Amino acid sequence: MNSRRNFLQKLGITALALQLAPIAGWAESTPNDNSDYDGPILRVAIMGLGSYGERVAEAMRGCKKAKLVGVISGTPSKIKTWQSRYGIPDKNCYNYENFDAIKNNPDIDAVYVITPNGLHHDEVIRVAKAGKHAICEKPMAINAKEGQEMVDACKTAGVKLLVGYRMHFEPKTLEVIRMRKAGEFGKIKFFQGLCGFTIGDPTQWRLNKKLSGGGSMMDIGIYAINGSRYMTGEDPIWVTAQETKTDHVKFKEGIDETIQFQFGFPSGATASCLSTYAMNNLDRFFLDGTKGFAEMQPSTGYGPIMGRTNKGELNQPITTHQTVQMDEMAAIIFEGKQPVVPVDGDEAVKDLKLIDAIYLAARTGNKVDVKL
Ligand code: NDP
Repeated sequence: MNSRRNFLQKLGITALALQLAPIAGWAESTPNDNSDYDGPILRVAIMGLGSYGERVAEAMRGCKKAKLVGVISGTPSKIKTWQSRYGIPDKNCYNYENFDAIKNNPDIDAVYVITPNGLHHDEVIRVAKAGKHAICEKPMAINAKEGQEMVDACKTAGVKLLVGYRMHFEPKTLEVIRMRKAGEFGKIKFFQGLCGFTIGDPTQWRLNKKLSGGGSMMDIGIYAINGSRYMTGEDPIWVTAQETKTDHVKFKEGIDETIQFQFGFPSGATASCLSTYAMNNLDRFFLDGTKGFAEMQPSTGYGPIMGRTNKGELNQPITTHQTVQMDEMAAIIFEGKQPVVPVDGDEAVKDLKLIDAIYLAARTGNKVDVKL
């Protein structure tokens, strides 16, 4: 890449934009420290300026290979605030009605969809049709069928589809995966994943079936589902599940409060997991093998992740998950880098197939066979 373009990309702006764009607050924006990096910069627009969008935007200040350059939002006042906070030019600001025009914007490479779950499907497909790479938050969709349609749309458009599986880049998690692959735990026999918190405001979108697609399973149980796969290194072949509900007013039909579920793996290993919106202190993974174990608590929160194995404390570095995730995603997109655990749409469809199977098993009481 020529060095002037590279320099301008690092500033997050093209020569034309430098001449034209009135950039409020540009000077206050903290420049990304990428002085020791000379490769391409992934120029990202965030869609949905909510609480996680804010966390990602702040974390991206620390990225070397990725930069926040645009926003897509339904709230004009947030757009103004973000423009001044991150130095975003007017020409990189969109709303949900007009963002298809992003296809004519050469200064944005990717859109990171951080809106309510039920909106991801249509939004990602519009991003793909606009010819931009799509990064999508978890759960990628609200069922496997919608997830597969997103994968297909991105393939047809020739763009990447990546999902915000930030734990796939977390150092202690990666060390446990390394140890498991090296046989240091022996033959894996059992995984336990406990994921939950007590949810507040009953009017929020997470408790609205159309926007959330379900309850705790969509939001937090998915960490145990995905974790059971990367911790054991296998994909489940059967699922059983049991739902309990103590508050039928807050958790309406189709919004699960608590589900316990079990997986069986081809090797004979099993997993036992719990997903809930009604208990605290649940952020724990336990992996058991014939020669050793790993336990992590917290296991999937924003950090620091803590844990130990039969060999002692895990002492890998503490990272800002979203900073590492975005740099690694830039490397996946530009350098074809292969992450240790995939973060693509196919990976997300596997989790969605398991969510579909868990809901079916909980509803029917039957053991459900799955093929991922
Ligand atoms: P918030 O409610 O805080 O933000 C969602 C944003 O989406 C809103 O602020 C709004 O932004 C936009 N939006 C568009 N349409 C709607 C609508 N109909 N109702 C509500 N908001 C709407 O949610 P979160 O940021 O916590 O979650 C967003 C996504 O990120 C979810 O898919 C969630 O699962 C995922 N997430 C992932 C985490 C992780 O660790 N990987 C952690 C937390 C969330 P605007 O006003 O700009 O349009």
